[in-house]
Amino acid sequence: MIQYVNHAWREFATENGGDANTNWLQLNYLSVCHVAAEEGDQNSINVEKGLQALIGSHVSFFMYEYPCNACEENRWYVLRAVPLKDMPNRFVISHQNITRNKLLEQKAEKLSLEDPLTGLYNRRGLDLFASEEFARALRHQTEISIVMIDIDHFKIYNDYCGHQAGDECLVNIAKIIQHHARRPGDIVARIGGDEFVLVLAGTAKDHSFKITDAIKQNVYDLDMKLSDDKRVTISAGIITLVPDHQTDFKKIMYKDTDIALYSAKKHRNTIHLSEVG
Ligand code: GH3
Ligand code: MG
Repeated sequence: MIQYVNHAWREFATENGGDANTNWLQLNYLSVCHVAAEEGDQNSINVEKGLQALIGSHVSFFMYEYPCNACEENRWYVLRAVPLKDMPNRFVISHQNITRNKLLEQKAEKLSLEDPLTGLYNRRGLDLFASEEFARALRHQTEISIVMIDIDHFKIYNDYCGHQAGDECLVNIAKIIQHHARRPGDIVARIGGDEFVLVLAGTAKDHSFKITDAIKQNVYDLDMKLSDDKRVTISAGIITLVPDHQTDFKKIMYKDTDIALYSAKKHRNTIHLSEVG
């Protein structure tokens, strides 16, 4: 049975659509959890379990992070339940707003997966999400295409137009690639200076070629001068496969596509399609 609630709790409950006149001291905390758990609320199910373990002395304290479902903005709380010192069968339950920490955590996590210049995924982000897409393709035995793109003569562009223009060029090409990667499973990453990887889930060879060709044309149309009569272009290598249990997705993504890219680089402004090696 609830013995006491403080002012902050009453305020919180009212702010989130509760009745300001609720007589909390007549309620059983576990029953309130149980009703919500019965309705299928996973957080209530977990909290009820945790509190039971605490009451049964199976654990010495219970902590649980949860998002506030009733709140209009995104908010997170941590519930802490501990036995009250020197008072058997009495417990203190507190709810602390941890939204600021949670948002910071999410931001840090996002930043660690992102390339700061283009906002695309970095190599770490690519590895993380590509492994999920390869696993999905393996499960469903569907095709997955990996495109490695490298800017042609980018060093000359940097020298000719300056580093800042070089940065803008990278951002513009990143936007073009992103524009063509429209499906939910598509992943775009900048994995090095002027190198990008595009993962196209559920996409066959000919469609991947079409998408890459559109990117190549869009970059050409930007008309970024390398010299008076030359402009920035891209070259790309594509591998399409249906993964099996032996597939090493990092080898496909970084080595096999790089070999395909190397073939395209012989001519530049070219796309090379390769079978998986
Ligand atoms: P290739 O046609 O064979 O691809 O030659 P390339 O000049 O494009 O390739 P290379 O790898 O020799 O040079 C890539 C250049 O990219 C080197 C570096 O000056 C430039 N670069 C790498 N990172 C950045 C960046 O963040 N900003 C800018 N502006 N330039 C960068
Ligand atoms: Mg290059």
